[in-house]
Amino acid sequence: MHNAQRTLISGLEARARDIRIHVVRMAAAASCHAGGALSMADVIAALYFHVLRVDPNNPDWDERDYFILSKGHTVPALAAALAMRGFFPEELLAQHQELDSIISGHACTTTPGVDVSTGALGHGLPVGVGIALGIKADKATNRVFVVVGDGELQEGSNWEAAMAAAHHKLDNLTAIVDRNWYQTGLTEEMLALEPLADKWQSFGWSARVIDGNDMGEVLGALETVPHDPGRPTAIVAHTVKGKGVSRLETGHQHMSGFTPEERDAALRELGVAVGEGHDA
Ligand SMILES: [Mg+2]
Repeated sequence: MHNAQRTLISGLEARARDIRIHVVRMAAAASCHAGGALSMADVIAALYFHVLRVDPNNPDWDERDYFILSKGHTVPALAAALAMRGFFPEELLAQHQELDSIISGHACTTTPGVDVSTGALGHGLPVGVGIALGIKADKATNRVFVVVGDGELQEGSNWEAAMAAAHHKLDNLTAIVDRNWYQTGLTEEMLALEPLADKWQSFGWSARVIDGNDMGEVLGALETVPHDPGRPTAIVAHTVKGKGVSRLETGHQHMSGFTPEERDAALRELGVAVGEGHDA
């Protein structure tokens, strides 16, 4: 690997770590879906700090790439990335879920940089298809990236969208599946999704399976879209729910709050020097 690539990857790994630190602090301030935010932190870091063409000073820039977080309940990671990228001051993250905060419990257009409000699952990909179709109709070069949860792929609307995207040859559309294997319980016990990459392929997409917590693999997949010109791209990113915080990695929790002690332990795991009780 070239030095420049190694530097890029370690820089993005540091961004992902900072996103996770923000997620832990936000979850400690107001209980939220921390596990699913932590699992996709590497993908979000790569998107916002290398892949997406966005302008924090002009969120409505005509030539921007569009990002849709279909698993809208994991907004803390997205909000952290947007703040770190300069869309709004990082101090506002602490107001997550407060009345009149720009950051809600789900992704919402009240947050600068968020184009589509989400949270009703199964809607992000259909909206992404519509945006990608509009871009093609305008003969423009914007791209659309959608992160979908694995559990929400049980919603039929995703597969209608998948069929439409392939039919219209939307190679400006990329769906990234945060394949953390959990919804309220294990996906494969509730309503099995495997073989998941084969499903995308059979719908006419180009599909690739990666380790979504390995920055080298995440970059390799995201930098090279579309993987097959004329087809939409699916990236099935295998991840660990709660990645980086062992308390959440070892047992599934649907919503996660943190006591001050759990928060400090998590922050230490993420490399933050936290003294006992000094990080209120
Ligand atoms: Mg999941």
